[in-house]
Amino acid sequence: MALFCQRCGTGLPPGARFCSSCGEVVSAAPFISGSPLFRPIVGRKIAGVCIGLAQTYGWDVSLVRILAVIGFFFSGGLVAVAYLACWVGIPEETMPLP
Ligand SMILES: [Zn+2]
Repeated sequence: MALFCQRCGTGLPPGARFCSSCGEVVSAAPFISGSPLFRPIVGRKIAGVCIGLAQTYGWDVSLVRILAVIGFFFSGGLVAVAYLACWVGIPEETMPLP
């Protein structure tokens, strides 16, 4: 599928996240663009779900954690289930070999 910058119309390679011509953020859907969503090993508190989501979407990791904790208690288990789903569904970051 061809990808084009919405600002300047430059053709971009599949999976591009930024326009090589003007720097515009090309895709608002990291899943579709193939952005690597993973659970980092460094900086995690439990399973790395919060920090993984925060890094992928550019969110503040502290805010994500606060919302997750609040959600645990007030969502009737919905967030807990979502967290477990992410834990299982998001691949663990693979450390580069030395
Ligand atoms: Zn552009």
